[in-house]
Amino acid sequence: MSADSPRPEVRLKGIAAAPGVGQGSVYILTQGMAIVACVRAVDQEAEVRRFEQALHETRLEIAKLRQEVVERLGESEAAIFDAHLLVLEDVALIDDVTKEVRKTGFNIEFCFQEVAQRYITIFENIEDDFLRERASDIRDVTGRVMDKLMGTKSAQAVVAVEKQVVVAKDLTPSETASMSTDTVLAFVTQEGGRTGHSAIMARALEIPAVVGVRGLLDAVQDGDTMLVDGEAGLVIVNPTSATIDSYRDKQVAIKSRRNRVMAEVALPDETTDGTHYNLLANIGSPEDMEDAHTYVAHGVGLYRTENLFLRLDDWPTEEQQFDEYAEVVRQAKGRLVTFRTLDLGGDKKLGDLTDEANPFMGYRAIRLCLDRPDIFAAQLRAILRASVYGPVAVMFPMISGVEELRRAKEFYQTIAVQMASKGVVPKAPIRLGAMIEIPAAAVVIDDLVAEVDFVSVGTNDLVQYLLAVDRGNQRIASHYEPANPAVVRTLERIFSSAAKKGVTAAVCGELAGDPLWAPLLIGLGATELSMSSPSIPEVRFILRHSSAKELKLLAQAAVALGDSVKIKNLLADFALSKVKHRS
Ligand code: PEP
Ligand code: MG
Repeated sequence: MSADSPRPEVRLKGIAAAPGVGQGSVYILTQGMAIVACVRAVDQEAEVRRFEQALHETRLEIAKLRQEVVERLGESEAAIFDAHLLVLEDVALIDDVTKEVRKTGFNIEFCFQEVAQRYITIFENIEDDFLRERASDIRDVTGRVMDKLMGTKSAQAVVAVEKQVVVAKDLTPSETASMSTDTVLAFVTQEGGRTGHSAIMARALEIPAVVGVRGLLDAVQDGDTMLVDGEAGLVIVNPTSATIDSYRDKQVAIKSRRNRVMAEVALPDETTDGTHYNLLANIGSPEDMEDAHTYVAHGVGLYRTENLFLRLDDWPTEEQQFDEYAEVVRQAKGRLVTFRTLDLGGDKKLGDLTDEANPFMGYRAIRLCLDRPDIFAAQLRAILRASVYGPVAVMFPMISGVEELRRAKEFYQTIAVQMASKGVVPKAPIRLGAMIEIPAAAVVIDDLVAEVDFVSVGTNDLVQYLLAVDRGNQRIASHYEPANPAVVRTLERIFSSAAKKGVTAAVCGELAGDPLWAPLLIGLGATELSMSSPSIPEVRFILRHSSAKELKLLAQAAVALGDSVKIKNLLADFALSKVKHRS
């Protein structure tokens, strides 16, 4: 190919991190610390003092950035900067740097870079995804300190982006936080996963993003253009005009569809023939309540209470839990908040307690709570205290059978009696429920529904345990197939058992927020669907344009099929008929 012939279109697949489509010229972010000279320090103590001053200035800078992020995105997104401040307080790191200066006699910039790189390498080589991603926190903070020492501005490089697609090996949380939809059209990284802070921030900022794109940096160069499909996890380098045109149409269609579904967002949750159901929000923090109201959730169907523990990366006190829970209940303004009791373990690790060889099959959720009455009691007391401000429900995760459920209920009752004797009176009677996400629970569902006011199906885990497919393992992702007939028939069994007993049947796994699946779930007998709030408008639209009768027929047809491809086609055809019918 001659030097001036156009570069060909190249398609790369990565992990879909934040939905939307962005297209434009690339801005390749060159990261990593600047090359620093290694020189002999004239005065070692003066070098140490310069380092202390740089640490101090960086602390102030991060505290300021944290405040800005609190105002823009809320407290939970800003918690990332607490981790950064901890790096700056890390006694081992600071000691290692000052020792290095005194031992080698070299300048502080060089010594700091040596030590920081050692720490980054250690974290980068850790097996655990969560800890490995902390390497970017250290890189972020040390980059800022280096800027102070050298008078450079690498950490703010992203500010230079002008309506471009940012391409980087990896992005630090503060680089992502300094992005705005006014300048950054999308971003793509070679490293990273969906659980990384950058991916989490991209979703909050509504910037389309794809992460974990192998070979990305070899495939792009300055002057290239790029189209990023954050929903499909697809990156197209130098898209042809035909590709751009097809995406332009896609974007227009997405926008007009969103407007159409948003126009009905405040309408009642009922089918065309008047059957009611409830659409609720999945939340992880008080800040998520804003979206819940925007998209008119009729309460919270799943409050992932472990998120507070993960954000703090520590065990919160009862008081800290109470403060957060009370805030959520107040913000719910009289609508029900369903607290899921602590579901640590699995991929949600906290210290050594949940560090084990086979975590998804291990010391997780209700197992941990029943084994640690101190932790469980503190959480239940905090929930009961928050229940004074508005209606709440409590559900227990990972219930495997009736004995375990009874133990959880008895423990709860003991704490409830203690709190009542102290004058803590819930605003409304507290309903108790069990999550159905272990196949054993689905098998004995008739016994479980006799014990509770509601059940809520955690399809994320139910699918993984029913099919024996780790939900987080990329290599076997194609085996994680919710349309497997075993899943559909298990769901039918759960809902019909709940209906016979007059118990509310909810779904709070990701399938509830999927417009292909919601009609089937309601047709099979679910009466509540809880999902991330931005999913509500689509789901509300499709259900409001369906009759209970046709949803039931859809469910009967799905249950009769013994083939996942046919089930998927059935669901897709149904959804398409609703879209076409109304366009
Ligand atoms: C589920 O398993 O479907 C669920 C809602 O819980 P989590 O995703 O938190 O395990
Ligand atoms: Mg679960």
